[in-house]
Amino acid sequence: LFIVLEGIDGTGKSTQSRQLAEWFRDQGREVIASREPTDGPWGAKIRATAATGRLSPEEELEYFLKDRREHVEQLIAPALAAGKVVILDRYYFSTMAYQGSRGVDPGEIRRQNEAFAPVPDLLFILDLDVDTALSRIGGRGDTANEFEKHESLTKCREIFLGLAGEPFVHVISSGDGPEVVQERLREIVAGVV
Ligand code: C5P
Repeated sequence: LFIVLEGIDGTGKSTQSRQLAEWFRDQGREVIASREPTDGPWGAKIRATAATGRLSPEEELEYFLKDRREHVEQLIAPALAAGKVVILDRYYFSTMAYQGSRGVDPGEIRRQNEAFAPVPDLLFILDLDVDTALSRIGGRGDTANEFEKHESLTKCREIFLGLAGEPFVHVISSGDGPEVVQERLREIVAGVV
C-alpha cells in the first residue's frame, strides 16, 4: 500500500504522516515512512541550496529527479515489493507544484516522473488557505520575501488542487484540528485496505 501526503508548507503533512504510520504499526503492519527531498546526497544538496540561494528551476528539477530515482530504487520499490506500507511526506506532486510555480510545465514534470516513479494508491492533499498556512509557519506576509512566498504558495496550491477529481486523490481540509484531519485520513484508508 502506497500513500502520499502533499500540500503547501504549514498544512501539517509531517505530523499527519507520523500519526498515520503509528496507526498502521499499531495494527501490526510494517511501515516505511519517508520524505522528500530525502536525506540522501541529492536531497541534502537540495536542502542546502534552498538555504543559501536558489538554483534555476531546471537545475532544481534535475536534482529532484536524481533524488527521487534513488529513493524509488533504494527504498520505495523494495518496500512495496515486500508488501510493506509506504507513507511519503511529499513526492513528485510537490515537484509539479513547486517547480511548476517557478515556470516549468507541471504536466511535463508529471510525465518525466511517472516514467520511473510508481503512482501511489492514495494521494492526500492537505489543503489550507495561504494566509493561514503562512501564519502557521511564522510568516505574516508583510515583508518582500513573505509577499513573494505568498504568491508562490498560491500557485502551488492551485497546482495541487488541479489534481482533485482523479480517483486516487483526496483533498482534505487542514483547517480543522490535527485529530480531525487524522480521523478523516484513517476513514479513507480503512475504505481501501
Ligand atoms: O517538506 P518540507 O517543509 O521540509 O519542504 C522543504 C521546502 O522545500 C519547502 O518549504 C518547499 O518550499 C521546498 N520544496 C520545493 N520544491 C519541492 C519540494 C519542496 O521548493 N519539489
